[in-house]
Amino acid sequence: MPPIVAGKHRRKVRFPSSTSTTSSNSTNQQPPPTKSTLTNQKRPGQSRPRPKLSSATTGKMTSQAAPRPGIPDLFTQPSAIRDPLVTETTDLQDATLEKCLPFLKGISSTQQGPFNAYGVPALQRDDHVAFLYDSLEDYPPGFVILDASRPWMAYWGLAGLFLMGEDPTRFRERLIDTLRPAQNSTGGFGGGRGQISHLAGSYAAVLSLAIVGGEDTYSLIDRQAMWRWLGRLKQADGGFRVCEGGEEDVRGAYCVMAIISLLDLPSELPPDCEARKAGLNTLTDGLAQYLSRCQTFEGGISGSPGVEAHGAYAYCALACLALLGPPEETIVRHMNLPLLLSWLSSRQYGPEGGFSGRTNKLVDGCYSHWVGGCWPIIQSALDGKPQGSGPPATTVGSLFSREGLSRYILSCCQSPTGGLRDKPGKHADSYHTCYVLAGLSAMQHYHYRTDSATGSNKSWASAFTWRSTPIREDNVYEKSDRLAALHPLYGIPFPSVDEMRLWCEARPITP
Ligand SMILES: [Zn+2]
Repeated sequence: MPPIVAGKHRRKVRFPSSTSTTSSNSTNQQPPPTKSTLTNQKRPGQSRPRPKLSSATTGKMTSQAAPRPGIPDLFTQPSAIRDPLVTETTDLQDATLEKCLPFLKGISSTQQGPFNAYGVPALQRDDHVAFLYDSLEDYPPGFVILDASRPWMAYWGLAGLFLMGEDPTRFRERLIDTLRPAQNSTGGFGGGRGQISHLAGSYAAVLSLAIVGGEDTYSLIDRQAMWRWLGRLKQADGGFRVCEGGEEDVRGAYCVMAIISLLDLPSELPPDCEARKAGLNTLTDGLAQYLSRCQTFEGGISGSPGVEAHGAYAYCALACLALLGPPEETIVRHMNLPLLLSWLSSRQYGPEGGFSGRTNKLVDGCYSHWVGGCWPIIQSALDGKPQGSGPPATTVGSLFSREGLSRYILSCCQSPTGGLRDKPGKHADSYHTCYVLAGLSAMQHYHYRTDSATGSNKSWASAFTWRSTPIREDNVYEKSDRLAALHPLYGIPFPSVDEMRLWCEARPITP
């Protein structure tokens, strides 16, 4: 692979006929409630006895067919512990389990196989690669909403292709042509031509440019203007707005830290920015304290202080803290770690094996990255100060079930027509394809830090000490299902991180 070369023999992107006017990356494609869930619905606070599930009484909920050999009971039967209170939430959970179990048991007619000795289907590598190449081609008019997500579409496609062993640098010229008009002279990138700069788009643009690499690519970024724009987003409470006049949340904080560390921008605030009037002097002043205020009573991390904890915000906050400094210092100092561990551990469900993003929500493949990506950072925080150039002599080890996540991804998240998805019954899209694969990759590797950083600049040095090695034990997937590794804080290849950083370090910006 690939038989499909960009620009030649290209195929049109697939899209579901029933959702032709919706975004392919929508995560809100919930099917309408089934008849059974509607009849079972109760108002919040009302309770009724919950039917007992056993292998004899789960006919409605699970297929009676025997699972393939090699699959432990843990992954083929409903959990023995069930909440006796029946609500719309528990009904949805039951319906999800009903959909997932045939896939976990390896008996769905839509699974392609071949299945290995652990009852796990092979990664449909060729189909997913073809899907990702498609995702970087033309879109029909119904996808006009994606016009504001061009940098994201590029990132998801390029990162996904790299994970699958493809060469994303072939897209260098096209990427430059796409992103050049999206950059604003006042700093940062918008979602496309004529759109205001936004931190999410700028983050995806910088990461995409790093993935394809090269002198022309790096020099496209107006780093001086970027630095001035980031200064205008800094808020008096330490956080960042995602765009001028926009909302403030931990996405903004993480995107800023990723951008300034990769581009080696000055940490000082520009002289004329509003945040200086509040007594702040640097882009990082008050940031760790702001992130600390986002930890909730549950132990998870919310988008901004006082709202609900969420897996994607947790990743943003933890990666941001790990960019600010060594995680054994920044995370231990600014987070209640036992409470955070409790909440993160509760995100992995059985028997599905996948992660949910919030309490009482359903498993979703994209949290393989957002929640799965938190674990290497936590592991590094618990392993402590790096002692040498290799993996630490002792480690806390895996803090989640790698087997469970492998089973969920390979059994439930592969679309039969290529691409990866949230869960059975959902369509594949490039967002889920990228982040499910990123989660699979993180699960297949052990990420650790060494005592030496790439480059000579001491700013953000900890971010440049990460390395990776494949995990070879307790695998339930085949060698041919192995993916490349991504940097755990940036989500791009390790060499891309180092090359962009070194290029920028050699061309310092003066405040
Ligand atoms: Zn999702």
